[in-house]
Amino acid sequence: MTQTQMPPAAVTSSSTASDAPAFSRRAALMLAGGALASATVFAPNIARAAAPFAFPPLPYPEDALVPTISARTVGLHYGKHSKGYYDKVNQLAAGKPYADMTLAEIVVAAKKGGDTAMFNQAAQAWNHDLYWASFKGGFQQPDAAFAKVVDQQFGSLEILSRKMVEAGDTVFGTGWVWLVKDGDKLDIIGMKDGMNPLADGKTTLVGVDVWEHAYYLDYENRRAAHVDAVLKKLVNWQVVSDRFG
Ligand code: MN
Repeated sequence: MTQTQMPPAAVTSSSTASDAPAFSRRAALMLAGGALASATVFAPNIARAAAPFAFPPLPYPEDALVPTISARTVGLHYGKHSKGYYDKVNQLAAGKPYADMTLAEIVVAAKKGGDTAMFNQAAQAWNHDLYWASFKGGFQQPDAAFAKVVDQQFGSLEILSRKMVEAGDTVFGTGWVWLVKDGDKLDIIGMKDGMNPLADGKTTLVGVDVWEHAYYLDYENRRAAHVDAVLKKLVNWQVVSDRFG
């Protein structure tokens, strides 16, 4: 068995990951404070608020995103890149105050403290957790309440998706295009490298990775085509609706 095929559960030595209770908003409110709590819509490590952080299992098989994203891309992206960020976070957190924080708290603390080395790794670990979880269940339409918000602000999900593709195309080099909740409105933000809205205290609804490792094997230089396909064929907009609340 090659490393990329290794079951995610075996990647880290976490005996508590599998029996950790599922994340709940209530748990976030209890464990996180102030602005962070309202921003922490997705925090898979909330129930295990201490390093070493267990690398979350991919919530579907590596070939589940075919043909939009190949199994080879998922294998490398999840098995090497995502895992690598977790490994680095655990190395950097060892013996530090970070070791008692949640991953989301580390992202905020590292940004605030100017700890670029930790911020980059922790943000990317968090970003990728959100990314993989957004495809669980496959493409689904948003719920009625979220669809109404989308329609009122953009006219349609199609137009929102087009705006995200455009924003993704304007990110120079590596980065992400994010859909965020700003009050009761939506905002689309392109950000460099591992930067994310969580660090700015905003609620992140969905993000599309526009680092070349996310699409180059399958789409070569056609970033826009990749982002378009992800939004229209992979994102579970019901999950996004739940994050909007
Ligand atoms: Mn990535």
